[in-house]
Parts: sequence; structure tokens; C-alpha cells
Amino acid sequence: MQYADVIVDISTTALDRTFQYRIPDELEGTVTVGSPVLIPFGSSDKLRKGYIVGIGDELKFPVERIKNIVGPAEKDLSIEDTMMGIAYWMREQYGGTLYDALRTVLPVRKKVQKQPKRIIRRKVSEEDIRKAYQEATAKKHKAKARLLEPLCTQDFIPYEIASGKMNVAKATIDFYVGAGLLEVAVTAGDYYPGDGLKVGLNEEQQKAAEAVITRRGEGRPFLLFGITGSGKTEVYIRIIEQVLSEGKQAIVLIPEIALTYQTLLRFYRCFGDRVGYVHSKMALSDRYLQCEKAKNGEISVMIGPRSALFTPFQNLGLIVIDEEQELSYHSETTPKYYSDEVAIKRTRDCGAALVLGSATPSVKSFRRAESGAYILLELTKRAKEGAQLPTAEIVDMREELTSGNRSVFSRSLRQAITECLSKKQQAMLFLNRRGFSGFLSCRSCGEVVKCPHCDVSMTVHRSGNLQCHYCGHTAPMPKQCPACGSKYIAAFGTGTQKIEELVKKEFPDARVMRMDADTTKGKDGYETILGAFAEGKADILVGTQMIVKGHDFGNVTLVGVLAADLSLGVSEYSAAERTFHLLAQAAGRAGRDRFPGKVVIQTYRPDHYALTAAAAQDYRLFYEQEIRYRKLAQYPPCASMLRVLGLGKDEAALNEAMKTLAEIVRTKGVTVLGPAADGMRYAMDIFRVILYIKAGSKDALIAVRDRLEREVPEGITLQFEFSE
Ligand code: ADP
Ligand code: ZN
Ligand code: ZN
Repeated sequence: MQYADVIVDISTTALDRTFQYRIPDELEGTVTVGSPVLIPFGSSDKLRKGYIVGIGDELKFPVERIKNIVGPAEKDLSIEDTMMGIAYWMREQYGGTLYDALRTVLPVRKKVQKQPKRIIRRKVSEEDIRKAYQEATAKKHKAKARLLEPLCTQDFIPYEIASGKMNVAKATIDFYVGAGLLEVAVTAGDYYPGDGLKVGLNEEQQKAAEAVITRRGEGRPFLLFGITGSGKTEVYIRIIEQVLSEGKQAIVLIPEIALTYQTLLRFYRCFGDRVGYVHSKMALSDRYLQCEKAKNGEISVMIGPRSALFTPFQNLGLIVIDEEQELSYHSETTPKYYSDEVAIKRTRDCGAALVLGSATPSVKSFRRAESGAYILLELTKRAKEGAQLPTAEIVDMREELTSGNRSVFSRSLRQAITECLSKKQQAMLFLNRRGFSGFLSCRSCGEVVKCPHCDVSMTVHRSGNLQCHYCGHTAPMPKQCPACGSKYIAAFGTGTQKIEELVKKEFPDARVMRMDADTTKGKDGYETILGAFAEGKADILVGTQMIVKGHDFGNVTLVGVLAADLSLGVSEYSAAERTFHLLAQAAGRAGRDRFPGKVVIQTYRPDHYALTAAAAQDYRLFYEQEIRYRKLAQYPPCASMLRVLGLGKDEAALNEAMKTLAEIVRTKGVTVLGPAADGMRYAMDIFRVILYIKAGSKDALIAVRDRLEREVPEGITLQFEFSE
């Protein structure tokens, strides 16, 4: 006899409460985990809909109290069923509990008080607003200018955007209300329909949008591969217009850091208050409210980071993932899902279109486009006249040292900074922090100490030894460089703070600002810093990769990349891809406006294709080299890979168990690397051991995962992560 655990109410507050029901013989096999079913509930046995979240043969109740499932609930294709199906699929794909998956997919139910919609509307003519805007700009009243700028071209902006994303204080709004220029109004219903797409698309954009609209039915995702500034957003907007006109809805994923008010206003301008947005620092009740609005049709376009994927639209017509190569689209908490895969699943289920957009697509997506699994659409021209690509220079840091320059700044970069400062323009210095993670590199020749068995760098362990992440090989810490004998060999530990100090020392007159995880902790932390930099409050911005993501600073003419190749030494097969993406984006920051831009890339490996291709802004050049390497080494996307992290309190028992598990799954067609200690041998007193498993298909790996889950002994936990 089979029994089912059923959740009755899928609000997350009630998720951990399941009820057991008997699966009658005639239903066995027709209902499974995830199925919506009808059950008698409560003392009156009122029929209600529930979802099966687990099936077993163990009875948890006295047998006389157990009730039967009545039958499958009618598939009315409610949005709850759809989201439930996705949660169940995510559990299958990414592991974890169904509870974890449901918590990701469903908004936490909160009591919300519906706020009336408020807008800030101009009370005077466009001309008068423009005058006030010019005055505010001249007086350098930045917040005032920020508020008035969009109002020069449109009647109103939503209050929540002004006070939230635009970071305009209530006092500033009140100032103009008091002066009689603006008014705050409460609106009911669809007040502002939006203007639609105003710019005429150029031929390439037109073609791309048409292709998506006419070929949606083929069921293949689209990869919109368009250089920076080619106008991808306008293409999305054109497709969204079409989708909305059919009474369907659209989800637009934008990396959190690029989700600025300028971007939001672009969508508001076109679609008015049918646009909603979410972000990760949003209060749960606000997020819930947005989901409610999506469910009952008040909004039709949802913009946000990866969590926006789960917007409960009844009739979804389109998902767009902008900057699809961004790592932030991979969830770091269980379930560790990949947004593109979830989007493929969700759009396939309901016949919606999926558009992935990027100037530098992930190797995974580009390969799929090459193989025909995705439809490739290209934008090769900049949409705006005049904007030009920056010039790039690659500086060989080995030569700097030979010429006696031991500074972290090359002579070339120092000169460029000096010039930039003298012209009263701004510079960004970018530090590849991912690289600063405890591996050993020679300051003299750039040699990174590698494992003799694998093509990865050894990492410095707490024990003081070097260790290989992949095969577990260990070696003592060398006293001098194994390649050139130099004694300038050290683990990199320099961070942004150190660089900031050095900049201040070398350029005492420059105003320096720092942006990294430390300085951006608070709510809107990075927006405050970026805002201040955009307003010219600093000459040099020093930071980690977060400074290079999609921001437009007209006055930035120099981008310096310090130690560009450090991330190449990181022990991940995708290190070159990460490096290329970061450098290409960094290069894209310089000279976006009136002035020509310059990029200086400092490196010990001036010939590496990730660097030369990024400097040349040539994606295909990079891709051709990279895919050859992946094929040769059988790394994703040329093979599927599963990373298994074993966690246990007893290190010896953990090692033993992982060895046994490795043997169990090592079969024909399945390659097992390891076990090896994780780079972090233990954390919070729990030891960590890694297995890498490669196979031809993800399905094969899912079978391996299921096998491992069954075989894992007591006291050890496994965590899984797939890459394709
Ligand atoms: P991408 O996202 O591809 O980097 P954007 O969509 O941000 O590019 O567009 C870059 C700039 O070009 C924006 O300022 C946009 O308003 C402008 N733009 C886009 N399409 C056109 C067009 N057809 N005509 C004129 N300007 C355009
Ligand atoms: Zn050396
Ligand atoms: Zn090794």
C-alpha cells in the first residue's frame, strides 16, 4: 500500500505541514509526486485541492484515521499547478528538498496592505520643467536634476521609482511640489498606458525582432548576440509589445547590478504602469504584492534579477534574459538552479518564447547556437551614431619588473592616469578579485604554480602546503619560482583596499573612491557609490568586478585592469571564460560618450587568447580557442559535469565514504575525478571532499546523482551541482 504526503495550501507558511493520505489501488501509478489531487479535508471532509510532495509505504497514522485520495484534481492549469510543476522539476534537476524548491518558486505569503498608486506629475509645461532641470544641473543639484530629467520628456514618473531606485529624497520632491512645478497624485487603475516604442528600429534590430515574432513556434530559444550599444533593449521592447498585444505577459531578467532606474524608466516609458519590478533587497511583503499583481493581471511585464523567473503570470508569452552569461543567474543557495535552464523549462511548458541576449555570450549558449539548438540572431552595429570602440593596450608586467618598475602600476597605466586626471576626466581601476584567492604566482615571470597532473593551479592551504583541487596532489610551498628561480614568489593577497592606498599615494591630488563587497553592504549601497561617481565626486574609482557591469559613465575615458590574468590561474575549467567576460565588459566601459576611451590591461600572459580577444573586442576569436580546449579536455559544454561536495564531521570516515561512492559510480561512460579535499578543507568544523563526475549527457549524471543519494552512508551529506 502506498501513502502520499500532501500539502493542502501552497502558501509557504504552510509548506512544512503535510498530511498523509492513502493512494487507492486504482490511482496507483496515475498520481505521482507533484500531482494535484483532490482530498477530503478537516472534520467535514470538504473536498480540497492538494499537491503530493512525497510517496512512501510507511503509515504515520493509526490506520483507522487515514483517508483516501479521491482522485486527480482537474487540470485547470491554474498558475499554482504550473509553479508547482516547476518546483518539482527543479527538485529533480538540482536536488534539495521539495520544500527548498517551493520556497524558491512561490512568494512568501505576507499580509499586505494595498498602497494606492502614486505618481509624480508635472503641473507646468514641459518647457518650464526643462528650465528648472537646466538650473538644477547648472547648480550641480544632482538629486533635483535626476528627478526632473525624465519629466522633461514624459508627464509623470511612478513615485516608488523616484523614491526607491532613483534615490530622490522626499524633501526634494516636496521642494518642487511646494514651488508649484510638480504634484503628487494618487491614481486608480490603468492611469498611464505608456508610449510604446518611440525609436524606429534599424534594419538589423527590425530583422531580429521579426525573427523572434515569426519563429516563436519552433520551440527553440533565441540567442541575440549583439555588440555593446547595438540596441538589444529596443529589440526586447518590440517583442514585448507584440506579446502584450496578444494578451500575454513577459518576464525580463536583468542582472541586479544593471537594474538601474534608467533601465526601468525605459520600460515604464513604453509600457506605463503595466511594468512591475522586483529586486533581492525588496521587502518580502512588497515582493508578494508584485506577485499578486502579476497573478491578477495588474501588471504584464516583470523586470528583475533571477527571482523574477517565478513571476506567476497566467499566460506567459516571453522570457528575456539580458546579459545571459552573468554568473548571478546561477543560484548559490539550494536549489542551485541555472536561470537559463529554468527559463527553457518554463517557456517550453507554456509555448512562450525565450530570448537570451549578450554581447559576449556564455560558451554554453554560443555552442548551442552553433549546433542549431538555439536560433542565432546578430546585431553587429552600434545603434547610436558616433560612439566608438576604445583603444586597448596590453602591458607585459614582466617587462616592467625587468626595467626596474616594481609598482603595481605599469608606466603606461601611470601615464594614462596622469593624462586622464589633467583633462578632468575619470578613470576606473579594476581588480580581478576572483584571482586573489590564495594561489601562488611569481612576480618576476608570472608563473603560476600548477599541479603536475592537472591543468589547474595549486592553491595555498592553511597547512602552508600547496594542493590540487582536482586530484588532491600536494606539494610543499616553494621558496623560489620553479620556472625562473626568482625569490619574488608569493601568494596573492592584495585586495581593493590595498590598491586604494597605493593609488592615493601615487596620485595624492586625485579623489579616490572604492567599490567592493565591503563598501556596498547596505541597501542601495552600490547605487549610492555609482551615483556619487557619476556625479563627479571622485576622479578614480577602484573596485572589483562590480564596477564593470553595464554602467554608463560619460566622463570615464580610462579603464585600467590590474593583473588581468590572475583569474586565469583559478582552478576552474571556466577560468578563461570568466576572464574574457570581465575584460570585455571592462573594455566596454571606456569612452562611451563624447571622448575616445582607452583601456590598459596589465598582465603576465600577454599572449593568452582571453586577453587578446577581449582587447580586440572579438568574441568569436575567443570562442574558437576556448571551445577547442573544452572539447579536448571534455569539459562542459562538450560534456556534462557533476560536482559532488561531501560534508562530514569525521574526516577519515568522509574520505573513506567518498572513495567508496566514487567506485560505485565509476562505470563505462562515466569519468570520476577525485575524491580530493575541497580548497577549503573544512568550514564550521565540517570537512569537505569533492568528486567531479563527467558523462556524455545530463540524464546520465542525474542517474548517477540518484544512485549516490541512495548509497550515501549515515552521517555524510552530499551536495550536487551540475554544469552543462
Ligand atoms: P545594448 O543593450 O545592446 O548594449 P542599448 O539597448 O542600451 O544597447 O542601446 C544603446 C543606445 O542606443 C541606447 O541609448 C538606445 O536608446 C540607443 N538606440 C537603440 N536603438 C536605436 C535606434 N534604432 N536608433 C537610435 N538609437 C537607438
Ligand atoms: Zn618566475
Ligand atoms: Zn591535480
